[in-house]
Order: sequence, then structure tokens, then C-alpha cells
Amino acid sequence: MPIYEYACNACGHQFETLVRSGSVPDCPSCHSTELAKRLSVFATAGSTADAAPVAAGPCGSCGHPGGPGSCAMN
Ligand SMILES: [Zn+2]
Repeated sequence: MPIYEYACNACGHQFETLVRSGSVPDCPSCHSTELAKRLSVFATAGSTADAAPVAAGPCGSCGHPGGPGSCAMN
């Protein structure tokens, strides 16, 4: 079950929550459902083309041959 980050449009509170399919999360601070969904740390790959210039190949920031992000996994 994925964890998503949300930012509340009503009060600005930011939080993470488990989202079950079919349910609508609300702000734990003000209970508004006017939420801006942010990218989960588990679901960023491939979803933002302009933020990920290379899908395969050496790491763009350090040239690590293991691929993007390999240098940050240590
Ligand atoms: Zn709120």
C-alpha cells in the first residue's frame, strides 16, 4: 500500500498518509479534503519526464556507471 505526501490547500499542513483505493484522505489538522497530492518517494520513477533526463545510463550527477541514484544508495 503506497504512502503519499499531501499538502493541505486550506491550512498548508503537510503530511504523509496511507491511501486505500476508494477512500479520500483529509487533512489531520483541519479535515479539509482540498489537498494537493505530492509525489510519493516510491512512485517518482518515470512519472516526471522533465525532472529525470535519463532513464538509463550513468548517474547524471556523478557519472556512477550503476545508473541514476546509484551513488545515493550507499
Ligand atoms: Zn488543513
